[in-house]
Amino acid sequence: MNTRDKTLETRANDDITASTDADDPGNALSRREMLVLGATGAAALASGAQAQETGADAPAVAAGSVAGMPFRAYVRYGTEGSVEDLTLRDIKPTQVLVRSRGSCGCYTVTTSVLGDFPQQTPTIPNHSGMGIVEAVGEQVRRVRVGDRVLVSGTPWCGQCHQCLTGTPEWCNYLAPGGVPNDPIADMADGTGVIEASVIGGLSEIVVAYEEYCVPIFSDLPDEQIAMLGDTGAVGVAATSVYDPVQIGQNVVIFGAGPIGLAAVQGARAQAAGRIIVVEPARYRRELAVEFGATTVLDPNEDTDTLVDRIRELCAPPTDRLDAGGQIAGRGLISMRGADLVVEASGYDRYPPAVETGPDTTGLLALRQAWEVTAPGGSLVTLAVQQGDIAFPGSAFCLSGKRIYGGQMAGMNVMRDTARFVTAMENGSVDIGAIITATPSLEDVRPAFQGVADRTELGVVITFPA
Ligand SMILES: [Zn+2]
Ligand SMILES: [Zn+2]
Repeated sequence: MNTRDKTLETRANDDITASTDADDPGNALSRREMLVLGATGAAALASGAQAQETGADAPAVAAGSVAGMPFRAYVRYGTEGSVEDLTLRDIKPTQVLVRSRGSCGCYTVTTSVLGDFPQQTPTIPNHSGMGIVEAVGEQVRRVRVGDRVLVSGTPWCGQCHQCLTGTPEWCNYLAPGGVPNDPIADMADGTGVIEASVIGGLSEIVVAYEEYCVPIFSDLPDEQIAMLGDTGAVGVAATSVYDPVQIGQNVVIFGAGPIGLAAVQGARAQAAGRIIVVEPARYRRELAVEFGATTVLDPNEDTDTLVDRIRELCAPPTDRLDAGGQIAGRGLISMRGADLVVEASGYDRYPPAVETGPDTTGLLALRQAWEVTAPGGSLVTLAVQQGDIAFPGSAFCLSGKRIYGGQMAGMNVMRDTARFVTAMENGSVDIGAIITATPSLEDVRPAFQGVADRTELGVVITFPA
């Protein structure tokens, strides 16, 4: 054990002592005493007071510096990308030092990992992680030293305008601009290194703002928890956050990558009626069936009639209007369609090594997704598209469809992550079955190449305990 490890262990033990002291009523502090003590001292001691008020254990407070700690990370620098030895800087009072166990690979960041464009500031790519809290800044309350924690791709502060007005997926702590993205470490030559999206993830250490940290109280494997920082959670959320699927309703999912397959599982868990999946790659269609899809369609087959086929599949069993029936309608004012449509196909940033759809921009799938949404139905758009899309004005304005621009599928990560964990524990959803690779830090590039090629699904970079 080196000196730094000893320091941290001592800190952890100090924290346990603080928790024990919390049982002592003599530790309660008045607001005036806290002011006299100052922020740092008060935070450590007030934890006992708060614990007495709430009956909870005191939050862990680590004091002192963590600067100088060595660790390794995948860094994009100039036109290079490689695993580098780094030296940690000190963390801020609102930040958490996480010893990584897993980081969920995401198609959105493939260019950041694999690209050879000049990166002016050395950057650790990716935007989620999970691991064990090793130190916390003096103002951190949500997590404690020793906690298992998810560093979610989306924060939740509970206090900003978005969090207070029902759009927590756009919590204003979300980078860029919400919080400073200062260097967390230095390269061997002294150049500062930042984390992409103030998270990074392809690193033995993640320094995260408290608002991005979700404590995890579960024994689920690390790689499954890591999937909840990004693709796994987004798919399940798509069926259960904006307009949750009701028993027997029809769901259509465009794209059966890790997000789409998690959405299939979510729809199944919500006891959807028909679950129709549109996906060009055969192996992904087969997995969709395994996870609960009732119909899978190849968008390359009869592309022009795809929308009509889906509408017919979603039709009620009668056209007798006095018996709950429905007429088909005409053209873009069709009455028929799905109650919930999830668009999770996206565009091909790289040419796939598997079958691809009829439109590599993803815009055709987006248009079709909107067309197969029933009047009164909901469309959740998740994927990153290339270019602009046109809709027929009148139908777009009048068709009664609810459209959700689904950054993180609308998740409130502090509220929803815990219930997803429970659903995984009771087997309602099986995010582990979507994971196809758990490479080490050394294999970041081939792993992300598999993501770019679409030959992999859930990819979690793992770090030995
Ligand atoms: Zn992502
Ligand atoms: Zn917020």
